[in-house]
Amino acid sequence: MRVLIVEDERKTADYLRQGLTEQGCTVDVAHDGIDGQHLAVHYDFDVIVLDAMLPGLDGFEVLRSLRAVKGTPVIMLTARDGVEDRVKGLQGGADDYLVKPFSFIELLARLQALTRRGRAQEPTLLRVGELQVDLIGRKVHRGGQRIDLTAKEFALVALLARRQGEILSKTTIAELVWDMNFDSNTNVVEVAIKRLRGKIDVPFAQPLLHTIRGMGYVLEERGTG
Ligand code: CA
Repeated sequence: MRVLIVEDERKTADYLRQGLTEQGCTVDVAHDGIDGQHLAVHYDFDVIVLDAMLPGLDGFEVLRSLRAVKGTPVIMLTARDGVEDRVKGLQGGADDYLVKPFSFIELLARLQALTRRGRAQEPTLLRVGELQVDLIGRKVHRGGQRIDLTAKEFALVALLARRQGEILSKTTIAELVWDMNFDSNTNVVEVAIKRLRGKIDVPFAQPLLHTIRGMGYVLEERGTG
């Protein structure tokens, strides 16, 4: 089980890292929200232990960024009197929470329950019209035809398919696919969209990848009417 711990209190983070490593988990630790967001969004974990109160970005902001792109199970750590935080966390897409201080055994049991649930729920095959994106096999088909994509093109189409029907700005795409802050001098997103469109749309009758002028891009099947 691959676990990300986002916790600024070093003692707690070290204790969790040690305990989970002894249980055979692979553990990454981030000590602030910015590192935590980066790791959570760009790497795949089976479960994330996310403290609510963090420097940089707080746990809710990290959760919001994560939920925009994927459904990795998240357990939030909240303060004893943080009823509002627990509600906010669950409404923001956290799967569970633990109130500090908690016992390691309880955390471990919750993590195991969550990863079982998470595996069953996460869709691995996304469909947009006749386009199919296989997130596990990292393959894309349209109309039964296999489409070869580069790693970045796959990341791009997977992002658009996960958030199908939603307009994604160039800034969002640049941050999530290229892990860079958008620089208006670069046209990396436009170039990649054009290449992707050439592969997934141009050879087919109905376009799925649409440009919304001044706003961004959206992947969706549109009616003919
Ligand atoms: Ca904290």
